[in-house]
Parts: sequence; C-alpha cells; structure tokens
Amino acid sequence: MYPTLCDTFRSRALWTWDTLARGRSVDCQIGEETLTDLNILEFKIRHISEVYSRTFSKPEEGLNGADWEWWFTGSSRKWIGFRVQAKVIDIKTNSFKHLYYRKNKDSPFQCDTLIQNALQKPSPCIPLYCLYSNWNTLTQLPWKCASYYPVEESYGCSILSAFAVRYLRSIKNLETRHFKTLLSYISPWHCLVCCRGYGGGDLPNRVFRYWREFILEVEQAILEETSPEIRQELNRELDNYQGIYSQIGLTEEPPSYVLSLLNDELREPPDRNLRTITVFKERNQ
Ligand SMILES: [Zn+2]
Repeated sequence: MYPTLCDTFRSRALWTWDTLARGRSVDCQIGEETLTDLNILEFKIRHISEVYSRTFSKPEEGLNGADWEWWFTGSSRKWIGFRVQAKVIDIKTNSFKHLYYRKNKDSPFQCDTLIQNALQKPSPCIPLYCLYSNWNTLTQLPWKCASYYPVEESYGCSILSAFAVRYLRSIKNLETRHFKTLLSYISPWHCLVCCRGYGGGDLPNRVFRYWREFILEVEQAILEETSPEIRQELNRELDNYQGIYSQIGLTEEPPSYVLSLLNDELREPPDRNLRTITVFKERNQ
C-alpha cells in the first residue's frame, strides 16, 4: 500500500511535533525553513508522481519573508491555490513571536503584505499561515476534526488563515501569540486536505469546501470578538482584497508557472517573495 497524500500530511504533522519536542528537550530551537524543507523532502520521496515542488534561492533582504505556494488538483482537474507563510513556535515562550511581524511601526504588517501578495495576482490564492507547533502540556487539546480520532501531535502542522491572524492582532486583551490561545482557531493541516466531514470529492473540492465551511467561519468568529470600531477599520483597510478573497473559487486553469513546474521547466520564481512552490496532484483513488 502506497501512502495517500492524506497519510503523509498526517504523519508529517506528527513528525514536526516530535522534532520540535526533541529540540525542546535539549534547548534547540529549529527554524521554519528547515521544517518546511524536510517536510517537502518526505512528500517528494513518498509521492513521486503526486508532489512537484521547487525551492528558489533565498529572496533578497527586505522582502516579505519567504512565501510558499500550495496548489491542489485531482481527478476533477480543478485547481485551488494558497499563499502560505510558515512560522515556528518559540519553544521558550510557547508562542509565535513573529506572528504580527512588521519591520518598524511605519511599515505594513507582514500578514497584510501576504494577503496582498496572495490576492492581487491574476490567479488569486488564499493567504494562510502554517504554524509548526509543539506544546509541553498534559492537558487535553481541543479536537474539532470531523474525520479522525484525536491525536494531539496532529497540531504539529497547523493552519490559520491570514485574515484570522489580521483580526487576532487587533484583539488587545488576549495573549494571541500564545499557542494556548491560538488553539481555539487553528486546525491540523490534514483537515484542509483530508476532511470528508465537510463534503467529499477529490482533493481540490475537499480543500475548497473546508475553506468555505470552516476557515471562513473561524475568521467571522474572531471578527465578532473585536470592537465595532476596530471591525470597521479592519474592513476599510483591505476592503478591495476582502472582495476578491470571498470570490475565490475552483479554477480549471492554474497559473502558467504551475504548469511549468509540472513540466519541470520552472527555473525562476514567478515573483520575488516566493521561496517555494509545491503542487499536490492527487491520483485517482
Ligand atoms: Zn479534520
């Protein structure tokens, strides 16, 4: 039996959780790019005909971090894309110190730039955070996955939409960088690709449904926790992007650089902020 993409998303989350725990035991903080690279390595090794990925040399200084694009497709030949920023938990504080990063108080938040980079493209992507996590606690973690039994290590690779991050930033009376607070809003990344609890179908259809039926709901719930003034301001600032975002759908035509990657012809990054692009192409089940 070959592993399914779903199996690998689940097992890589457990591995990531465990690797961070081992780091914790000897006071060794592991970086997000290292975890991303090793996760991609395993995806490529286990799914030689399903995962296509290219990492470009480090973007120049001063750019908006190192974005990662995920493109999902399957037997329906539909596509959906995500623009991802990976963040690793700080094992000393159990928080994502740089979740609300900006260079100085006059520069835009990295999160808002991620949203713009994702949505201003001809083929807009869903802006997302991938949170590499581990927590040294014995308390039971909440479990909202509709498809699998609880395994707390599944939170090793968790997802949270960039709009959710943007809204959380404006909630002042909560320690919203802390893993414990974020737990109410994040999901294991396998939910995005595997959860049939939100409707079946092939990979891009499952991903799309999970975004519509779960991720958008979470954003809305956080927005409702903010004050009306803040809400107004948040809506005004990225108003035009909010419109593009809510209209993202499955597409039959991925951007040309995605097709180049499949043909092994992609040499240059399609834009300067992109570090890695990964295509998940589910085989017929
Ligand atoms: Zn799930």
